[in-house]
Amino acid sequence: MGKDRQRVRRRWTRGATAVLALTLMVGASGALFGFWAALGLAGLALAVTLVVVLRLEARSRHRRRSAEEGLAARLLAGFPGAVILVDAAGVVEQLNPDFERHAGYPPDQLLGRRVTILDVKPLHGDLQQALSFATTRGQPWQGVLACRRADGERCYQDTVVLPLLEEPDGRRRLLLILRDVTRTRERYLQDQMLLERLQGTVSRLPAVVFQTRQDVSGRIEFLYLSEGLQRLCGLSPEAVMADADRLLMRVHPEDRDRLTASIAQSAVSLEPWRIEYRLIVPDGVCWLEGRALPRRQRDGQTLWDGLLIDISERKTAEQQVQRLISTDMLTGALNRRAFFEQGEAVLALAERHGRRVPLAMLDLDHFKELNDTHGHAAGDLALQSFAMSCRDSLRPYDLFARIGGEEFAVMLIDSEPDQAREILERLRQAVEAIELEVDGVTLHFTVSLGITVLEPGGSLDGALSRADQALYHAKREGRNRICGPGPAIASHGAG
Ligand code: GH3
Ligand code: MG
Ligand code: MG
Repeated sequence: MGKDRQRVRRRWTRGATAVLALTLMVGASGALFGFWAALGLAGLALAVTLVVVLRLEARSRHRRRSAEEGLAARLLAGFPGAVILVDAAGVVEQLNPDFERHAGYPPDQLLGRRVTILDVKPLHGDLQQALSFATTRGQPWQGVLACRRADGERCYQDTVVLPLLEEPDGRRRLLLILRDVTRTRERYLQDQMLLERLQGTVSRLPAVVFQTRQDVSGRIEFLYLSEGLQRLCGLSPEAVMADADRLLMRVHPEDRDRLTASIAQSAVSLEPWRIEYRLIVPDGVCWLEGRALPRRQRDGQTLWDGLLIDISERKTAEQQVQRLISTDMLTGALNRRAFFEQGEAVLALAERHGRRVPLAMLDLDHFKELNDTHGHAAGDLALQSFAMSCRDSLRPYDLFARIGGEEFAVMLIDSEPDQAREILERLRQAVEAIELEVDGVTLHFTVSLGITVLEPGGSLDGALSRADQALYHAKREGRNRICGPGPAIASHGAG
C-alpha cells in the first residue's frame, strides 16, 4: 500500500516537473518570439504532458496486472488439488500445473477434451449432472465423485464446480476444483466396517457394555449402553441414554443405597467399581454383577467403562447351596451356625435402629420318653411336625433354628416383647394341639419356652444363656409353659 502511494507521488512529481519546465519554456518563448509562438509551444507542451502521463499510467497498469497474474499463478501452482477451467460445454481450457498428480490424468490428454472423461461414467455420470446443475442454475455444486485415473485406477474426488461470471460472449465458464479423497474414504470405510463388526460383537455378548459419566454435581448419565440391555430388562439403550433414571429406578429398593455408596466410593478413590445388586425386570427380579474401571476427566467428571452381567442363575445356585449349608436336614429349620450368623446380622441392624429383639429357647418336653416308648423314627416325625407347626406360627422373616437335638431357638424380628410373647404362646398352643399318627397310635407332645429380650448392643450368647435359664424355670415349673420377662404362661392344667 505504502509503495503504491510512493509510486503515485513520484509519477505526479515527474508530471508536475515536466509541466513546470514547459511553462517556463512557453513563458520564455513568448517573451522572445511573441504570442503565437508561445501558444503553439503551449499546445505542444500539453500534448507531450498528456502522452507522458498516459504512458506512465499504462505502464503501471501493466505492472499491476502482471503482479496479480503472478500471485494467481503461484496460488494455482501451490493448490493441493486439481483446478480445471472448462467452457460452457465442459471442454477443458486450462489446468493447474500440479493437476496430473491429483487427478491422475496427463494434461495433454485432457486439454481440449470434455472434462467428463474423468468420471467413471463419462456420458451420464455425476460429473455431467454437476456441470449441468452449475451451468443452468448458476450455483456451485459440491460432492464426492467416483472418477477414473488415466491408468484405469478408480479414485474418489471431492469436487466443487463453480460457475464463473458470465463472459462477454454470454457463455458461462466453470471452474472445477478436485481433491483426491480416495485414501480418506478407504480409511473411513474400514473404520465403518470395524465399528459395525465391533457393535455386532458387543451386542451379542451375554452382558451389557456401558460407559457412564458422573458430573461434579453427582448426576449419572449413560454415554453408551449395548443392545444387551434390551434383552436384560426390556429397556432400550437409547431410552436409558436419554434418561438414566429409567434404569436407576429399576434397582431393587433394598440395594439402592448400597449401589449409590459403591459408585460414590469408586468416584472418590478411583478404585474399580464392583457390586452385585438386584434389578426389577418385567418377569421378576434379576441379579446383576456390575464391574467398571473409573477415570477422572480434566473437568472433574468421572467416567466408568464397564460391564453388567446377569448372574441370576449363579445367585440362585448360591442361594440353594447357602440354604443347604444353613438348614437342618431333618426339620428344615436353620442350623446352629446359620442361626448365629443371621442372628448377629439381625442384631446389628436392630442396634442401628435402636430396637429390642425378643429371643426364645424351646425344648420338647419328655422327648426321651417319647423316643423310648414309640421309637426313634416316631421321635423324628415328632420333630418334623413340631418344626412345621412353629413355622406356621411364626412370620417368614423370624429366625427359627434347631440348635441342639430337640432344642430350638427363635428370634422375633420387628416384634415388641409383649407381641412376641403372644406369638410364642400361640406357638405353644399349636404344638400342644398336634396329633401325630404313628402306627395307629395318636401321639401328643408339648414344648417349654424361655424368653428374653436383647437390648440394643447386647450379646447373642448372653441372651441365649438368659433364655436357657428361663427355659430351665419353665421345666422346673411343670413344662409346657413360657417363662421369662413377664408372668409365666402355662397351659391349662399344666403343673
Ligand atoms: P425334658 O422335658 O427335661 O427336656 O426331657 P427330655 O426327655 O426332653 O430330656 P432331654 O432333653 O435330656 O432329652 C433329649 C432327647 O432328645 C434325647 C435324644 O434321644 C432325643 N433326640 C435328640 N435328637 C434327636 C433326633 O434327632 N431324633 C430323635 N428321634 N430324637 C432325638
Ligand atoms: Mg433337651
Ligand atoms: Mg427335652
